[in-house]
Amino acid sequence: MAKQKVRISSISVRDIRVPTSDSSSGSDAFHKNPDPDYSAAYLEISTNIPNLNGVGFVFTIGNGNDLVCRAIEAYAQPLVGCSLGVFTSNPGAFWKKLNDHPQLRWLRDGINRMAFGALINALWDLVSKYHNKPLWQLLAEMPSEELVNLVDFRYLRDALTPEDAFALLERRFQGLDHHVASVIAAGPPAYCTAGWSGLELDDVERRTRHAHDELKLPAIKAKVGLDIEADRARMERIRSVIGENGKLGVDANQWWGAPDAIAHMEALADLNPWFIEEPTHPDDVFAYQDIARALRPRGILIAGGEHASGAVSFKNLLRADALDLVQIDVARVGGVNELLAEILLAAKFDKPVCPHAGGIGLCNGVQQLTIFDQIRVGGQRDDQICEWIDFLHDGDTMLTPVEIKDGRYCVPQVPGFSWEMTPSFLDAHEFPNGDVWRDRQEHFALRYA
Ligand SMILES: [Mg+2]
Repeated sequence: MAKQKVRISSISVRDIRVPTSDSSSGSDAFHKNPDPDYSAAYLEISTNIPNLNGVGFVFTIGNGNDLVCRAIEAYAQPLVGCSLGVFTSNPGAFWKKLNDHPQLRWLRDGINRMAFGALINALWDLVSKYHNKPLWQLLAEMPSEELVNLVDFRYLRDALTPEDAFALLERRFQGLDHHVASVIAAGPPAYCTAGWSGLELDDVERRTRHAHDELKLPAIKAKVGLDIEADRARMERIRSVIGENGKLGVDANQWWGAPDAIAHMEALADLNPWFIEEPTHPDDVFAYQDIARALRPRGILIAGGEHASGAVSFKNLLRADALDLVQIDVARVGGVNELLAEILLAAKFDKPVCPHAGGIGLCNGVQQLTIFDQIRVGGQRDDQICEWIDFLHDGDTMLTPVEIKDGRYCVPQVPGFSWEMTPSFLDAHEFPNGDVWRDRQEHFALRYA
């Protein structure tokens, strides 16, 4: 895999923000007044080879995006002048070097892990482009031993050993061409949120009709957590379109403690929610366990993971039998290597990977991992879905927009992560001096009185 002739010539990190709060798209129980401004801390690695670059980014919701940019620079700047071989000679060892940084490590998860994950993902984008393959294909064709070597098993061995991982990867290496053809014929099922908390009910219904009737999405999601009657009204409006048997998930974005979550969802159980997503604090394994034990007998599954800081979080939730839908996030946990660990953990516990993608560019990114999972690890299963959002993913934003057909993701054939944003979008939305922001820099300023 050594590609010594590629040399990193420069990096750029840009603070990109979109005033999505203007339309309440993205609003939920926690993130409101002001609503989120979908943002990206956007890293581009340039090389000595013309038109060969690597892109990675972190999704945030506005304030703090600049902090992530600085953290990405701290990890990425030392790569300038290096050969790509410092990564490709042993990507697993490189990942450990970042994760074990002797000083930045003190910052632990959150910004730190997001930042080095952006670099890891940009390098995988670069390597995939060098090989002229989409990332899903590069990973799917990799021998099991190489994939195992990408993962740091130090904190996972009590639930997942390298031998377990090898066996899981070997299962579907046989017949790979068949599995690829099967996923290309029917990509991951997509779903979207139609019931953002800040929307009027007529708008919720309009969005549901578009998603269900026109796009044929097999599931719809609503935000919950504010008050039961408001949640009920939003869910009933969606049910009026998708019928009583349509799949309806709900998402509390961590708003409740365990007793509140159980009481609130029991009060909504007659509306037959498929799952409750992030019912409580993402680190509270015992609360998740209590909620799962209370709600599964009512037919409500437990979803979560978009705020999990890494594979250890998923390991604990899965070991505690507290999670049903494994919602990996492509831009939070340390990049492709750690995502592979999460996908393997889901397979070990026989749970579906149902990625989180509610954010700018995340659909483009995570489709690569979920397609890889369906081909090589977890396979195609009825309870697997991948989030999709109907804004900020068109050709004005993304160079190669995600395609949805008959309610499913189409498998992308573009080399790399296929998540580059268009130059005009980047220029207009750069904070604080792009055209979109120049005259509205007080758009969100924290005030205490
Ligand atoms: Mg969510």
